[in-house]
Amino acid sequence: MLDICLLGTGGMMPLPYRWLTALMARYNGKSILIDCGEGTQIALKEKGWSPNPIDVICFTHFHADHISGLPGMLLTMGNAERHDPLLLIGPKGLTRTVNALRTIAPELPFEIECVEIEGDSQEFVFDKLKIKAFKVKHNVTCYGYTISVDRLGRFDAGRAKEQGIDLKFWNKLQHGETVTDGDKVYTPDMVMGEARKGIKVTYCTDTRPVQSIVDNAAGSDLFICEGMYGEEDKIDKAISHKHMTFMEAAKLAKDADVKELWLTHYSPALTRPEPYMNDVRKIFPNAFPGKDGKSKDLLFED
Ligand SMILES: [Zn+2]
Ligand SMILES: [Zn+2]
Repeated sequence: MLDICLLGTGGMMPLPYRWLTALMARYNGKSILIDCGEGTQIALKEKGWSPNPIDVICFTHFHADHISGLPGMLLTMGNAERHDPLLLIGPKGLTRTVNALRTIAPELPFEIECVEIEGDSQEFVFDKLKIKAFKVKHNVTCYGYTISVDRLGRFDAGRAKEQGIDLKFWNKLQHGETVTDGDKVYTPDMVMGEARKGIKVTYCTDTRPVQSIVDNAAGSDLFICEGMYGEEDKIDKAISHKHMTFMEAAKLAKDADVKELWLTHYSPALTRPEPYMNDVRKIFPNAFPGKDGKSKDLLFED
């Protein structure tokens, strides 16, 4: 089960009852946070969670509303005697940016590793969980992320028998392990059917609608996308500030053929997203306004 929680839904600045946009994804004991603006640790606390179990923090870009919460969160992790290393992933310049922020959180009892994304996209694999960063179009270098869990095909006992593979190896092969029997090597692909549909979530914010989003979000179970402006007459503002309107996000959801859309990263001037949702649903029916703390457990089909 991939457990997703949209911790905040604000853009630019936190408001009372609306924290800055950030996403928490948890799978099989691994916790991944995407973006960490001012107040993200309070949003976590409101869910009853601590930042300590976070293994990886991914940053879309280095505007303050997406990263200024980092030093405070590092301090909290340090005060809680965290010793496990923390991995940070972000655009080029991550190490320099984090080191600058670290001047106010200099002594920590754990290691921080920074990985700067190379090129237009990069994939990171954590056991069964995959994170892919893909470049979007903002006024600074910015990446969207897909989080996915692949699913193996069904075990095919007939194929295993045909190849004379001993019964005692079946369980290991079924769980993705390679087995050696004397001079013979058996790999899972020798006994497994075609891979089944996994789970995929796409998160993208602070961008114009571009083809890379459609390509990468394609077939997502959940697509979390910025909707900075509800009003269609703010399209010129969206274009000049490199953001999106609700309708543009809906069009992306439709083109990418996703299952469900949540909007986020609202302009501070947009107090209520609901009045615009009827028009959004004319383009993409399964659309919802993101709300702080909105969560969903995503399971494999059948
Ligand atoms: Zn932003
Ligand atoms: Zn930005």
